[in-house]
Amino acid sequence: MTTETATPRVAVITGASSGIGEATARALHAAGHIVVLLARRADRINTIATELGDRAIAIPADVTDRDSITAAAERVLAELGGADILINNAGIMLLGPFSAEQRDDYRQMIEVNLMGAITTAEVFLPQLRAADAGDIINISSVAGRTARAGNGVYAATKWGINGWSESLRQELLPQIRVTLIEPGVVDTELPHHTTHGQTKTAINDLYAKATVTADDIAEVIAFTLARPRHLAINEILLRPADQA
Ligand code: NDP
Repeated sequence: MTTETATPRVAVITGASSGIGEATARALHAAGHIVVLLARRADRINTIATELGDRAIAIPADVTDRDSITAAAERVLAELGGADILINNAGIMLLGPFSAEQRDDYRQMIEVNLMGAITTAEVFLPQLRAADAGDIINISSVAGRTARAGNGVYAATKWGINGWSESLRQELLPQIRVTLIEPGVVDTELPHHTTHGQTKTAINDLYAKATVTADDIAEVIAFTLARPRHLAINEILLRPADQA
């Protein structure tokens, strides 16, 4: 990989128990960084951290629970001296037509995808500010650029991430770089949680043909972080080559 780093940094990755978060933890670990895996499924992150060995720790945490994120940040400070990199990746996608009134799904997506990222950034910001050089990577989506019938509230959370991210970028430069990553369809567990009947079938069909892997996205994230400090990659929109 072209992302080998000379200086190991502490990278905190939310949603590291599967998909893009897990792949990013593996890629950053391979690049020489110290990785902190956060997610609710403790068994999964513990297994991954054990497999990675040195320079990997797992901290069970829920991004919708400020106390659990605060406890995770306290551990990162005490055990590793603080975070240099925060990857706001945790997310859920519960699709369906707006007329289906999936109110609990809307609330959950806003709390995890949008408020979860905001809370985690707020809690880790003092550590990122104290770092010599900080990075925040926010995982948005093509849905943060182009909304479609049936993904309205998911898209709203990602449009929210895009707007917040740009504001944060301007406020925190130059010491902390803020990067927005907007993937198209990536082969992960993300579509499996949608429950709306017709939508579930359509989304499973779409994802069954997915060609882009979580490793593809992780490699782009590792490349972004490895750029010299005078260069900030602000935004990357990336789709499978055959996605319309
Ligand atoms: P996965 O379902 O594989 O991963 C989602 C991760 O989010 C899991 O590790 C899950 O861990 C974590 N998560 C969910 N809720 C919480 C919570 N309350 N607290 C902490 N962690 C949580 O899907 P992806 O890897 O695809 O998704 C990662 C990100 O990429 C999401 O933000 C998604 O919107 C975005 N994305 C994905 C695309 C795709 O096509 N796959 C396309 C564009 C963007 P756990 O359940 O253990 O807590």
